[in-house]
Amino acid sequence: MSAPEAGVFERLSALAAIDAPGDRQRKTIAETFTGKPLGSVPIGTSEDVAVAIDKARVAQAEWAARPVTERAAVVQRYRALVVEHRHFLMDVLQAETGKARWAAQEEVMGLMFAARYFSEAAPRLLSPHKVPGAFPVLNRAAVRYQSKGVVGIIAPWNYPMLLSIGDSIPALIAGNAVVAKPDSQTPFAALAGVELLYRAGLPRDLLAVVPGPGTVVGTAIVEGCDYLMFTGSSETGRGLAERCGRRLIGFSAELGGKNPMIVTKGADLNKAAKAAVRACFSNAGQLCISIERLYVEQEVEAEFTEKFIAAVNAARLGASYDYSTDIGSLISEAQLEKVSKHVADATSKGAKVLTGGASRPDLGPLFFEPTVLTGVTEEMECFRDETFGPLVSIYPVDSIEEAVRSANDTDYGLNASVWAASKSAGERIAAQLHAGTVCVDEGYAPAWGTTAAPMGGMGISGVGRRHGPQGLLKYTEPQSVVVTRYLNLDPPRLFPRDLWQPFLMAIARGLRHLPGR
Ligand code: NAD
Repeated sequence: MSAPEAGVFERLSALAAIDAPGDRQRKTIAETFTGKPLGSVPIGTSEDVAVAIDKARVAQAEWAARPVTERAAVVQRYRALVVEHRHFLMDVLQAETGKARWAAQEEVMGLMFAARYFSEAAPRLLSPHKVPGAFPVLNRAAVRYQSKGVVGIIAPWNYPMLLSIGDSIPALIAGNAVVAKPDSQTPFAALAGVELLYRAGLPRDLLAVVPGPGTVVGTAIVEGCDYLMFTGSSETGRGLAERCGRRLIGFSAELGGKNPMIVTKGADLNKAAKAAVRACFSNAGQLCISIERLYVEQEVEAEFTEKFIAAVNAARLGASYDYSTDIGSLISEAQLEKVSKHVADATSKGAKVLTGGASRPDLGPLFFEPTVLTGVTEEMECFRDETFGPLVSIYPVDSIEEAVRSANDTDYGLNASVWAASKSAGERIAAQLHAGTVCVDEGYAPAWGTTAAPMGGMGISGVGRRHGPQGLLKYTEPQSVVVTRYLNLDPPRLFPRDLWQPFLMAIARGLRHLPGR
């Protein structure tokens, strides 16, 4: 198996929402494993975004008028196409990002899960529902959901298909159009994802993918859309939130993390150690919900560490388009530099490398060994800052209380993992953690795959949620329609005027005896 041929990338680049691509500068995308060019995409401009938004507005009016079930049916067809073409999608993802095959598969599965959940749940969640009116009998009230209009989606490079096209699915089912900007390093993943949506019957103008730099294309999207969904760093998210705030448009963001795993005595250390390898090094650690801090109770720390290091050493690092490797490449020189810098900083200040610690140019230009540190202290960069790479630190703790305190000692709050003596002990620890998702007896994947539950970050890890009802309803404007019948709030003709207001108050006080008040 190998990267798709050049013709495939040419076909995908023609799907970029750019009207005269021949007039645009192009960006060449290289295969991460080798550095060899795969193909090129036209670089979008702010005018391209303006045109895409205008077309999207026209398409959206017709789309929003269709029944939800019809919109959901397009997404169901899409899911079937994703399953059918899963190997192709994984090939594109691997070629562009350098991730291992199983990590690419997780991404494709995420797309399938999102398509299934939202297409099944949306007709129920979006249907108008009755609520008790202000005054019984006199008021009949219902909540309906209007779409926002044009949703802007700005996505990062690490899960580039899921976080651009996957996040478009609920927005589309809710009746919106989408203008999406993939990261400049990963346009083909988004274009491969959208190609199948068009084949499933989605009108082209409803979901425009405009490749280009954040400062140009991203800025134009923020200035023109009616709602922004952003996934990326906390720093960029803060700037975008300010700009959305100035425009008074809705904003949700999935940002960075410095995610902890807690292992207590009584936990199954064999399972915890093996799962920790996946949890720390999925996509070579370039995953917002991957684990970077391991808090292990003193009594089991030596045994856990021994098992964990053995499992890390057994993990296969390398470039391959099949399932024969466990850990792939980093995506860029910038990522390689950041990981190397965190390791060098920690070791120069006294941290000990238990395994890994070096780049592996023999495997490809951007490989770095899965690295485990101990003796990490507050002065070291990797203590608080997100590395976003294959680097994890082990911290022995005296008690569960200390583990919880340390795990919560961060401005982030995205994901956490707990391994305890029993499931219920794990759930009790989970309840004390400041994190949007917690996995008991796993690292991150079940929380990501549970699309019926909201997912997102507390603290500087995010605003709002993807997945679950919230992940759909955020793309809507709830509208409450309250109909007044029989009498309005003026006193009836024969009612004594002075007694009318006390009468209303008596009714208001009595309402507490009715259900739903
Ligand atoms: P980034 O913030 O640098 O870039 C993300 C996207 O924003 C890219 O498409 C980029 O072009 C665009 N962008 C950058 N500056 C912009 C600007 N001024 N205006 C408009 N758009 C702009 O993030 P990154 O380094 O590419 O991604 C890594 C970060 O993303 C990590 O911190 C990671 O934790 C986070 N992340 C979070 C999640 C999540 O679900 N919470 C998922 C994946 C990645």
